[in-house]
Amino acid sequence: MRIDLHTHSSTSDGTDTPDELVREAARAGLDVVALTDHDTFDGLDVAVATGEEVGVQVVRGLELSCAHRGASVHLLGYGVDPADPALAGEMQRVRDGREGRVAGVLAKLDALGVGVSEESVRRHVGDSPSVGRPHIADAMVEAGHVVDRTEAFDRYLADGGPAHVERYAIPLARGIDLVRGASGVAVIAHPWGRGRERVLPPDLLAQLAAEHALDGVEVDHQDHDRDARRRLRKLATRLDLLGTGSSDYHGTGKTDHDLGCNTTAPEVFAEISARMAARR
Ligand code: AMP
Ligand code: ZN
Ligand code: FE
Ligand code: FE
Repeated sequence: MRIDLHTHSSTSDGTDTPDELVREAARAGLDVVALTDHDTFDGLDVAVATGEEVGVQVVRGLELSCAHRGASVHLLGYGVDPADPALAGEMQRVRDGREGRVAGVLAKLDALGVGVSEESVRRHVGDSPSVGRPHIADAMVEAGHVVDRTEAFDRYLADGGPAHVERYAIPLARGIDLVRGASGVAVIAHPWGRGRERVLPPDLLAQLAAEHALDGVEVDHQDHDRDARRRLRKLATRLDLLGTGSSDYHGTGKTDHDLGCNTTAPEVFAEISARMAARR
C-alpha cells in the first residue's frame, strides 16, 4: 500500500487539476491519495469521482491556514464535514484575507521594480477560490522577473520578505477545535519545517494533544531533515500522536515534492480511516 496524504491541485496553488492529479497518483503507483487544497473543499468531488474511475482511494482533505505566535502553521484535516458552519465561516474569512492582501503585495512589487498586473495574477489563479502567493509568483515568472516560484519566494514573497503582506490565519488551537468539531481528523503539516521548531516546541504539541485532541503530526515531509524526522517521530510516539508522511505535491509548482516521495504507513492510515469513520 502506497499512501500520500498531502497534495495540492489547481483548486488552490497546485498546477494539476483535481482530475489530473488523481490520474497522476495512479501513474505514480499510489493506492491512496488525499487532496488537501488550501482553505477550500472545491476540488474534492471531482477528485473522488476520478479516483473511483482509476482505482485510487481519494481521501477528502483540507490544509487550513492557521497561526501561532504570529507564525504561519498549516493544519491538515481529513474527513471534515464541509457543511459545518463554524469551520466554513472561518475558511471564508481566510479566503477573504487572501483576496484582501493581493493589492498590497502588487503595490510592494511595483515599488521594488518587479511589478505584475492584477490581470496576469488572475489568469494564474484561474477558478481557484483560494488565491495564494504562488499565483503571484507565477505572474512574476511570466513577466521575466524571476525564473521560478522558489526565486520569487526567496527574494520577495516569503514571510518577512520585502513584498510580504500579512493576512488572516486561524489561531492554531481554534483551528484544531474547528476540524475536530467538524468531525475531522487533525494533523499538523510540516510542524518543524523552515525554522518552525521554535514555534511548535514539544511542550506545545503535548498541550495541543492533551487539551485539543490533536490527532497527529506530519513527520516525513521534504521540509524536515533526517534529524528532525527522527526526533519528531520519537515525540509523536511518546505523545501518542499519529505520525504521517506525505509529498505536499504541487504539480510543477514545487520541485522535489513528487507524488509519493514520502508516504504514510498503512497502520497509521488504518487508524486515520477508523477515526474518520467513527466521527462521521
Ligand atoms: P500562501 O498560501 O499565500 O500563504 O502561500 C504559501 C504557499 O506557498 C504554500 O503552499 C507553499 O507551499 C508555497 N511556497 C512557499 N515557499 C515556496 C517556495 N520557495 N517555492 C514554491 N512554493 C512555495
Ligand atoms: Zn501550497
Ligand atoms: Fe503547507
Ligand atoms: Fe501543502
